Amino acid sequence: MAIDYEHFKKKLETEKKLLEKELGEVGRRNPDNLSDWEATPTKKDSSQADENTTADNIEDYEENVAIVNTLETRYQDIKTSLDKIKNNKYGLCEICGKEIHTERLEANPSARTCREHMNLA
Ligand SMILES: [Zn+2]
Repeated sequence: MAIDYEHFKKKLETEKKLLEKELGEVGRRNPDNLSDWEATPTKKDSSQADENTTADNIEDYEENVAIVNTLETRYQDIKTSLDKIKNNKYGLCEICGKEIHTERLEANPSARTCREHMNLA
């Protein structure tokens, strides 16, 4: 096995922490399901809320939902990758089972497939 698990584990854990921080800024963990994140409305001074502010808040909230969705997808991929490290399955293509090139993993430690199958997963 040519893949340096420890090296990628560190990279994944660093990215996971970063994502948790980013997610914390636009959302919060779903209290009923801690691996799920939901967007939170932006905190603005509601004492001066007029119609414009309300519309702005809704737009901000929708933006947060989009950001949370993107971040959450990455977050889940990272968690899946960390699980794979635990199960000694990290770095194998989900389609063909071959080892993913270290170069590709360097660029994207949560890659789930080899380069050939990157559009199929
Ligand atoms: Zn493959």
